Amino acid sequence: MTRVLHVTPNAPEPDRIEIAARAIREGRLVAFPTETVYGLGANALDPAAVARIFEAKGRPPTDPLIAHIASPDQLRGLALDIPQLAIDLGERLWPGPLTLVLKRNPRLPANLSAGRDTVAVRQPAHPVAAALIRSAGTPIAAPSANLFSRPSPTTAEHVLRDLDGRIDLILDGGPTPVGVESTVLDLTVSPPAVLRPGGVPAEILREMIPTLDVSPRVAGPAESASSPGTFLKHYSPQSPLLLFTGPRDSMLAEMRRTAQQLLAENKRVAMLLATPEISLFADLPVITFDLGDDLDSVARRLFTGLRQLDSSGADLILAHDFPREGLGLAIWDRLFRAAEGRVVIGNW
Ligand code: AMP
Ligand code: MG
Repeated sequence: MTRVLHVTPNAPEPDRIEIAARAIREGRLVAFPTETVYGLGANALDPAAVARIFEAKGRPPTDPLIAHIASPDQLRGLALDIPQLAIDLGERLWPGPLTLVLKRNPRLPANLSAGRDTVAVRQPAHPVAAALIRSAGTPIAAPSANLFSRPSPTTAEHVLRDLDGRIDLILDGGPTPVGVESTVLDLTVSPPAVLRPGGVPAEILREMIPTLDVSPRVAGPAESASSPGTFLKHYSPQSPLLLFTGPRDSMLAEMRRTAQQLLAENKRVAMLLATPEISLFADLPVITFDLGDDLDSVARRLFTGLRQLDSSGADLILAHDFPREGLGLAIWDRLFRAAEGRVVIGNW
């Protein structure tokens, strides 16, 4: 049985944080909210605890974890040859949804980095995450608290659905404010490269790194060498998802045509839509999920939408592209992976 403790997101109760911190120190698994998604935490310096994360998630041992710290001082224990750029980025964007890939301190457990000579580090901003790491007195390894390849969890209910009985404790601090994972920035290559778009938009990074490499990374399981975690099948709902793109009017027309065709085949159809689009499909017997009408709310609701439509028993989920700027790049990346590459381009 997994224990659930409620905490006040902005002012977590110290006695509850201490219960969770003790569990971390004892090598157990604790899920907790960060500003991006819920993380599945274990003591990053304890190889047996780190191994338990991979086991609970069913995560391939080749996919490294992010070490979470409570203050930039903790960087030095984790990484070697820390470049000035890392310090500058930390000063400007930490605590926040930015993960830096640096040269690994060889004293760290090898499984934390999946055997690589690099380590990924982030200082999260969520008060519950910050308090937990501080009280535990150790960096906390924490990938998203979902089963491998399922949509990431943005509520404690999502975590429980995937991991009940597989982990010791969940700190329930309500829904996570950003909703997509951190931006992963590799500082061990030149020029620095975004391995995964996320909560810190590439535009902000480019202000400090004009040469930034943001080329898309999608790999099959066999060739995920340079960017682990870029598997095409990721964030996948169980119902297949079709992703539509192209100029707005023809994209929406193409979605309607596809929905009508599927309905004619007696298929159950679900759609992920922006608020103003819900009424456009009100005449069709489709299940809709309202993502909101700006990129912040789309990011925040995306994984809930994927999970909800999935459990609606839909045969197919239809979704569409959003502008690929700001958080839109992370949204595109998650939708593209959820679609496993099935993209329909409306005519132009
Ligand atoms: P998750 O926390 O589940 O979102 O997964 C963490 C992700 O961070 C991995 O899937 C990788 O994309 C990335 N990552 C972690 N460590 C490294 C590393 N040493 N090198 C490159 N990417 C990393
Ligand atoms: Mg994940």
